[in-house]
Amino acid sequence: MKNLIDYKDDIYKCSRCGLCQTVCPVYKATLNECAVSRGKFNLLNGVIKGDLILNKNLKKYLELCTGCNACKDFCPSRIDVRDIFIAAKAEYYKTNKLSFKEKVLNSYFLFKLVLIVSRFFLPLYRFFRVNKLIKYFENSIKKMGTAAKWLILLNSAAGNGYKPKIRSGSSLKKVLYFDGCFNKYINNETLNSVKKILAQCNVELVTKNFECCGVSYLNDGNIDEFKKIIEKNLSKLDDDFDCIITDCASCYDVLKKYKDYSSDPKAVSLSDNIKMAWDLMKNLEFEALKSYKISVHKPCHDSYEFIDLVKKIKSCEYIEVKDYDKCCGFAGKFALINQNISGKISEQKAQNYIDSDVDIILTTCPACLLGLEQGFAELKLSQNRQKPEIMSLYQFLSSVCKISD
Ligand code: SF4
Ligand code: SF4
Repeated sequence: MKNLIDYKDDIYKCSRCGLCQTVCPVYKATLNECAVSRGKFNLLNGVIKGDLILNKNLKKYLELCTGCNACKDFCPSRIDVRDIFIAAKAEYYKTNKLSFKEKVLNSYFLFKLVLIVSRFFLPLYRFFRVNKLIKYFENSIKKMGTAAKWLILLNSAAGNGYKPKIRSGSSLKKVLYFDGCFNKYINNETLNSVKKILAQCNVELVTKNFECCGVSYLNDGNIDEFKKIIEKNLSKLDDDFDCIITDCASCYDVLKKYKDYSSDPKAVSLSDNIKMAWDLMKNLEFEALKSYKISVHKPCHDSYEFIDLVKKIKSCEYIEVKDYDKCCGFAGKFALINQNISGKISEQKAQNYIDSDVDIILTTCPACLLGLEQGFAELKLSQNRQKPEIMSLYQFLSSVCKISD
């Protein structure tokens, strides 16, 4: 991994053209020059020259970023913004004493504790139908402020406990499944759906009790903790697999980066072989049981290819919604630290789907599901206006479609 100083030439490559302003969701929501890559490069230039200190105040500006990569894709100098910001935050961790809030946000122990409590608590929550009750009163609850908005988001994450019937039969291929912390601890509906769909093409999924992929540690520049997570996950990996899949675009993006942060050959094998689950479903046929107007939200870290599969779903009309491929504004810790900005970005997204009058929005990242839910929680809908269903692509394919090969 490179240090901030190693990116000196990349930072100097910035011509200050300002084109990144036109695509940066955080800049558009705040109009703060320090939110966009050009502004952050000015600050980091100052740090490299010794004119500025990389302290808590400066880190706040580095945190004004969802890691969407839109500026990298648009920048004429092709500067890899995200890697530079990660290196800068890693430098911060080396030279600063952490505040209490930072220690709490960075504690893997606390994070795991919350997940373990959720795993035991959520089945009871669903059993007593609290999820249905909150969904029923969602419109009234969302008027009650920020805490209520988070209740709606967590409620949507908890799901309904959907368990599809999985066809039994002879399995030909074994594919390793990176189940991630969301599937394992919060809601395994997506995992069950992927299992059901892939059973159709005689694939059996093998899970290995993996840890979280480490996305929030990588994005936050807490590289020591990130490397510990890589080690734990690699220790669960044997060499005997052809391919490994995940249903989460954020996990996919982070697992691809494991080889940049570990010298273990298993890291290269994992990073080079990881696929999105939809990649194994491209040859299947799907027909929806009812006719819906469907649209997608493309996560920043998934490819456009999964949309071809969505367009192929029979008896549905595919609607391309404005900015369907722009960041949903959630980005994990970003939504916790910058609640107002995150809400503003998500709200604009939600408005676009309302304007296009779609029935269902499909996506491939659990964090984006929350980002979209957040957008609708922020949006003031008229009494008779229903919000679209927000669903994981896999759950839609497994619960609403007939599948054939
Ligand atoms: S688009 Fe690239 S070169 Fe232009 S200001 Fe932004 S970071 Fe600099
Ligand atoms: S990665 Fe996205 S949010 Fe971050 S500076 Fe670039 S465009 Fe803005």
